[in-house]
Amino acid sequence: MALKTRKEYEESIRKLKLNVYANGEKIESVVDHPLTKPHVNAARMTYELAHDPAYEDLMTVKSHLTGKKINRFTHIHQSTEDLVKKVKMLRMLSQKTGTCYQRCVGFDALNAVYSVTFEMDEKLKTEYHQRFLKYLQYVQENDLMIAGAMTDPKGDRGLKPSQQKDPDLYVHIVEENEKGIVIRGAKAHMTGMVNSHEMLIMPTTALGEGDRDYAVCCAIPTDAPGVLHIFGKQTNDERKYGELDQGNAKFGIVGGEALTVLEDVFVPWERVFMCKEYEWAGLLVERFASYHRQNYGGCKGGVSDVLIGATATMAEYNGVARASHIREKISEMIHLTETLYSGSIACSSEGRPTRSGAYFVDPLLANVVKQNVTRHIYEIARLSHDIAGGLIATLPSEKDLKHPELGKYIEKYFKGIDSVCTEDRIRIARLIENMTGGTALVESMHGAGSPQAQKVMIARQANLEHKKNLAKKLAGIKEERKEEK
Ligand code: SF4
Ligand code: FE
Repeated sequence: MALKTRKEYEESIRKLKLNVYANGEKIESVVDHPLTKPHVNAARMTYELAHDPAYEDLMTVKSHLTGKKINRFTHIHQSTEDLVKKVKMLRMLSQKTGTCYQRCVGFDALNAVYSVTFEMDEKLKTEYHQRFLKYLQYVQENDLMIAGAMTDPKGDRGLKPSQQKDPDLYVHIVEENEKGIVIRGAKAHMTGMVNSHEMLIMPTTALGEGDRDYAVCCAIPTDAPGVLHIFGKQTNDERKYGELDQGNAKFGIVGGEALTVLEDVFVPWERVFMCKEYEWAGLLVERFASYHRQNYGGCKGGVSDVLIGATATMAEYNGVARASHIREKISEMIHLTETLYSGSIACSSEGRPTRSGAYFVDPLLANVVKQNVTRHIYEIARLSHDIAGGLIATLPSEKDLKHPELGKYIEKYFKGIDSVCTEDRIRIARLIENMTGGTALVESMHGAGSPQAQKVMIARQANLEHKKNLAKKLAGIKEERKEEK
């Protein structure tokens, strides 16, 4: 079975013996619990649409390993066309869900580990890539959802992993034997982790010799012994028990992040893809981060499409859709959205093959995309708030609307134009609130790495010396003359 249906995905998650807690209580079934269900629904779309002939070209592809039809989320990019299709697929999925469907992190991890293990084997004569190929085939054939697990809790950010007072603040190897390794630590902000089948652990930063034990890349089932997930609290949590107040009740906001604790987890050798080769950690981080930053113009582009639609609808319900300043602000939202998207398409089109044959994005442009997202999404949200009006912040609840005595006042005083019922105006307002609220914006800022991480990579990739030489040449500055002095 190479393509799971949405039902098969749900059933396969139900079968896992996941150790997930939220609000101090154990979640028995992430598929059914109100806090996690919307995220399962969003991830489910990556399975459902793979069976829809309208999206076959975006959602499915031929495996370069087996020649079989697979879900694109398990594919290794074979061309710039594949990279572009990834961005288009993400925009389409975001348009349909208005939120995060979480599967891209594992997709990017698979691609990063693929090319890096190839280069490691070439140089070190190890067998990591061969092991990884077997694992990849297993992932493709079972259409698995992988959580890309990079970010460590990090403790004191001024100290290296091995210098931390508590050694567990970065995931590390605590034992190595003939059967495999044992790892300990935690991974933080894990998007989609609680409804994934597997996690692919990677180091979070470039490492030095003293940090050898922290150089680990391996695959673990999300329900392996010793694994515990603590689900993050979102700004709208208590609303998940009602419908109307949520805004996007079916798919929720952002990805449903968790803290994943790894308490002496055993990993057999066939699932270990880096073990103490600290010199390679930086390259893996850079590949993964660039692939993930490529996504954001597609993913947030699609989310912004929905927000623009919601904002324009709100303007219509408020009776101001024709006002010139409203039209101008909507155009500005569109301009910013397409700017984000253009960057994702550009870094994909400028992609190049790695030594493994797998294609990699242009890392400079990919980092620019994500840096733009950290700014433009706030501006898009600001314009939406400007147009939608103050009720985004002051709306009474669904219970008040349905209350036998209060309901009539809400009906009467929250009404906009005559042809639209109050409940629909409230629905669109809640959607805007949901999409522009705290959790959603913070994800745009810090998801795929905080802005400073992109600035570091932008500076590193930009080749400033080359730009200086361009200028010196035009200005007629000769290096020899400077040396003569
Ligand atoms: Fe994919 Fe990340 Fe966007 Fe979620 S936030 S849809 S994981 S790119
Ligand atoms: Fe993200």
